Amino acid sequence: MATPIGNLADITLRALDILKQVDVIAAEDTRVTAHLLRHHGIATKLLALHEHNERHAADRLIELLAAGKSVALVSDAGTPAISDPGALAVAAVRAAGYPVFALPGANAALCALAASGQAVPHFLFYGFLPAQAAARQRELEALKTMRWLLVFYEAPHRVVECIEDMTSVFGAARGVTIARELTKLFESVHRCTLGEAAAWLAGDDNRRRGEFVLLVEGAAVAVADEIAAATRTLEILLRELPLKQAVQLAAEITGGARNALYSRALELKKSGAV
Ligand code: SAM
Repeated sequence: MATPIGNLADITLRALDILKQVDVIAAEDTRVTAHLLRHHGIATKLLALHEHNERHAADRLIELLAAGKSVALVSDAGTPAISDPGALAVAAVRAAGYPVFALPGANAALCALAASGQAVPHFLFYGFLPAQAAARQRELEALKTMRWLLVFYEAPHRVVECIEDMTSVFGAARGVTIARELTKLFESVHRCTLGEAAAWLAGDDNRRRGEFVLLVEGAAVAVADEIAAATRTLEILLRELPLKQAVQLAAEITGGARNALYSRALELKKSGAV
């Protein structure tokens, strides 16, 4: 079931009832959930279920269910299984033949989207990018042609480098919404271009603190078509030529950046597409 992403009052009446009624609550960090339960005057027993013990803890949940006990599953914040543990346990419990019911509630991505004022019919929820710079840049390259709004989660210690990488891969003109500390005291939602974002973050130490959702505009149709055409050229050349030569020629033919074409060529080779 979903729990708050900051403001402890953001929990449904039904969730509070269930948290009170169940025999056990499986929680990501029992200290975090104990704080929420104390706030709402709930004394239900807690059991730790986090990314490092999820399989083992799922077995324990199944034992409890077999003994006729009822169990609720929560993560530290928001909806379990969304960039959080929970999915493995749910699958194991279902496979063991027990029903699972989801209780909807807070989720940082949807909260940011709603606060951003962007009336997009579609969006792509990505979650966390890789922590390592080279892997992050490769992943951004793969997302570059996507025409939908891209929704990322990011930690405060990586937000600056993440924005830098987004700017160099997506270009400075794309719009970004930086939603931080949603539902909390210092909540802010700032909209600018990727090119302006670094200066905005540098403008005040507080702007780099807290929890972040980044909403990045999708590729313009023309850009997406251009990139798709460059990829197609690269694919054809890679079938006939060594990688370096294919990249060089593709850059000359399409006017695309050599670095980006090189990364794309490596991806194509790795995926077995050429
Ligand atoms: N399961 C959660 C959900 O449903 O949104 C997400 C958990 S994930 C481990 C934590 C990340 O969600 C944070 O690093 C941040 O990117 C985002 N997040 C969580 N709470 C937030 C908040 N109050 N404001 C902005 N982002 C938040």
